[in-house]
Amino acid sequence: MKNILITGAGGFIGSHMAKAQKLLGNFVIGADLKYPEFSESKCDAFYKLDLRDYNLCKSIFKNHKIDEVYTLAADMGGAGYIFTGRNDLNILHNSCQINLNIAEMACLNKVNKLFFSSSACVYPMHNQQDPDNPICSENSAYPANPDSEYGWEKIFSERLYLACTKNHSLNIKIARFHNIFGPEGTWCGGKEKAPAAICRKVIEASDHDSIEIWGLGTQTRSFLYIDECIEGTIRLMNSDFSGPVNIGSSEMISINNLAKMIINISGKTIEIKNIPGPIGVFGRSSDNILIKEKLNWEPSMKLIDGITNTYKWITSQIKK
Ligand code: NAD
Repeated sequence: MKNILITGAGGFIGSHMAKAQKLLGNFVIGADLKYPEFSESKCDAFYKLDLRDYNLCKSIFKNHKIDEVYTLAADMGGAGYIFTGRNDLNILHNSCQINLNIAEMACLNKVNKLFFSSSACVYPMHNQQDPDNPICSENSAYPANPDSEYGWEKIFSERLYLACTKNHSLNIKIARFHNIFGPEGTWCGGKEKAPAAICRKVIEASDHDSIEIWGLGTQTRSFLYIDECIEGTIRLMNSDFSGPVNIGSSEMISINNLAKMIINISGKTIEIKNIPGPIGVFGRSSDNILIKEKLNWEPSMKLIDGITNTYKWITSQIKK
């Protein structure tokens, strides 16, 4: 049995990771500003605290001998949170502070392994102008030119953890997640991502109504179901490879076609109205050449299956 610390254990990916780690028989320690919103935490110990606070961070490592850390805490959200510019200082300051504290604690306390959740948002804007042919291979991240402060923070933190390896021999694993979605993900309030936001709009719309989609809707993305995100992350953690590596789906879809997929699931007739709004880059999809080579694995679930599960789950939440 290992002692696993999950930062962000009250969030979407962190709470799913806590479930997975319990199933693996580990002792799971969670840390977050909040408890999970949609189900009881599976953590054996849960620290409800602010990881930006150095002494609070230190107290977790004082109370437990931590074997492995999964850093999933960050100040983040969907396009409406990241691309408007309104939250830039919080995004940079809060997530950097969390990672600076965790990096120091991991080195001082000599943890065996640390996982860092980076993002596809590190990739340069100029490589993602063509919706049909975005370049998102791992080695294309430099020279850096991400489309948001969120991306710059991820670049900084990747480098921070890489420096921990260089100077303190910390065993790190870095994944660049591409749009993770699924049940128990935020679906309202301003931090939700496209799949959840569109599911909510479609569920709330009446038959023959319309829904609004930001931008022309021709921008493309790929979306990864939460179960495959957790599986890929654990596979990376158990491998000899450190990354950075993409963990994402290579099934690319335009946002309007995603909306049409969700409208089809609903069985309603709904019109799509494209309106001005924050959209990010024109195209983005996971390049899975490296993950196949290093882990002999890549996500394979069809988008429609994950979206159907998520649609059902958000329907049940709205009915509550
Ligand atoms: P989330 O917002 O659901 O979870 C992040 C958690 O961090 C939240 O519960 C939040 O309360 C917590 N947190 C924020 N500031 C904190 C602080 N000061 N102290 C303690 N806890 C704090 O996000 P998520 O989707 O679960 O993402 C997890 C990680 O994966 C993040 O690092 C995110 O940047 C990364 N990521 C996610 C996606 C995605 O599509 N979900 C894509 C790329 C990268």
